[in-house]
Amino acid sequence: MIPLSQERVSPFVPEPEIGAKRYFLWTIGCQMNEAESAKAAAILRQAGFQPARREDDADVIIVNSCVVRQQAEDKVAGKVGSLAKLKRANPDVKIALTGCMVTGQESKLRERFPHVDLFYGPSEFDRLTELSPELAQVDVDLAELPHYYEDDEDDAGVSAFVPIIYGCNFVCSYCIVPYRRGREISRPFDEITAEITDMARRGVKEVTLLGQTVNAYGHDLPGDTDLSSLLRAVNEIEGIERIRFLTSHPKYFTDELIDTIAECDKICEHVNLPVQAGDNDVLRRMRRTYTVEHYRDRIQRIRDTVPGVTLSTDIIVGFPGESVEQFDGTMRLLEDLRFEKVHQAMYSPRPGTLSSRWDDDIPWKEKYRRHQTIEELQTQISAELNERYRGRELEVLIDGKQRGRWRGRSRGNTLVFFDAPGDWIGRTVNVRITEPMTWYLIGELADGGESTSPAGEHMTTAR
Ligand code: SAH
Ligand code: SF4
Repeated sequence: MIPLSQERVSPFVPEPEIGAKRYFLWTIGCQMNEAESAKAAAILRQAGFQPARREDDADVIIVNSCVVRQQAEDKVAGKVGSLAKLKRANPDVKIALTGCMVTGQESKLRERFPHVDLFYGPSEFDRLTELSPELAQVDVDLAELPHYYEDDEDDAGVSAFVPIIYGCNFVCSYCIVPYRRGREISRPFDEITAEITDMARRGVKEVTLLGQTVNAYGHDLPGDTDLSSLLRAVNEIEGIERIRFLTSHPKYFTDELIDTIAECDKICEHVNLPVQAGDNDVLRRMRRTYTVEHYRDRIQRIRDTVPGVTLSTDIIVGFPGESVEQFDGTMRLLEDLRFEKVHQAMYSPRPGTLSSRWDDDIPWKEKYRRHQTIEELQTQISAELNERYRGRELEVLIDGKQRGRWRGRSRGNTLVFFDAPGDWIGRTVNVRITEPMTWYLIGELADGGESTSPAGEHMTTAR
């Protein structure tokens, strides 16, 4: 998954009803955290809470944390620390801290942040009922509430994240996730399809199936259940128009999964496949369990099988002992494979992981240089790849408005903006690209906009 260092806050709402209790959600980290915050919001709404505009307007504040990198951890600590003042001014406000910062750290955190009322680990939603009398009275089965809320002005609830597998059985030497999210547990197949059917009824058009290693789905379930069989079942759910999934591990990116993407009309032609490094020695020390050759083979197979597929990857620069030659290997891989997008991070030692016992020997300045070198290369590649859309039509699902323009994504996951009168939220339209930018595309509605092309024919050439 892609940890975003930008925090997100609970949706803007016009004016909560007078007398209604209010909640404020502050979320940082990966899409799994976003999904879990959405579920917390669904529970709070079930208890009669409404979203607050600001944290000092709220009766309940939930901070959903990430510790995958030091930078995210520092932001969370700053946020939680800053709430002490608010708690002093208003002792009735209830504050909860959840997410990866909490697992196994409750007693330490209680000492550090005595103003926090509740600490609960990732997906421990039952614990939320301890936070206030209203929450204690919620009498629906919390497991049945969707990871979804509808009232965000900027994101109209067209797309939703659906966790399908929790935890991770890999032990990459740099990664704290397995220590904080435990071993893999797949959600029951029927529970997932029921949740997505419910979401479709509420107007969701696009679902992204989530897991730290989403393509390990089903390995712990009886029978042949796996990501491919789940994707095929979701493909049949009426009302769902698009399916995505995050994050895949190269080791389990099977031919069958690739064929499934090619054969199911609703699965978008976009794959995020983190490679982390382009050198076999670094990959071995990262404990990634595959080689560069295996990775290249998977990418080739995906490109040969799924026409028009777009690809993104994750990279860590400055891993302990990464030589300049080994970094050059990563550069060569990126130059050859030409990803649409690269999510890169400078290595940050995480206490408790294997690599944190090794010397963090690449100076910050050199890590930064490598980061900038990739940034420059990728800026050029992304701009060139986007340029090929000029004059072409893309099928775009509109999920909101941004700075006055309609915003959506192509099936290949590129952001597209256009201006037009009317209400296009939740609609899939054909947009002719007039101005490709490096990180997004600008276009205009083609033929009145409404998409008539069958799903799968996601790009048509200009007439
Ligand atoms: N399961 C996914 C990634 C989960 S963590 C995978 O196998 O790739 C999300 C991203 O955070 C990773 O892709 C990695 O690039 C980054 N990351 C994780 N630990 C890190 C660390 N210690 N330092 C820097 N980046 C890290
Ligand atoms: Fe972390 Fe590796 Fe698991 Fe991804 S596969 S969550 S990087 S341990």
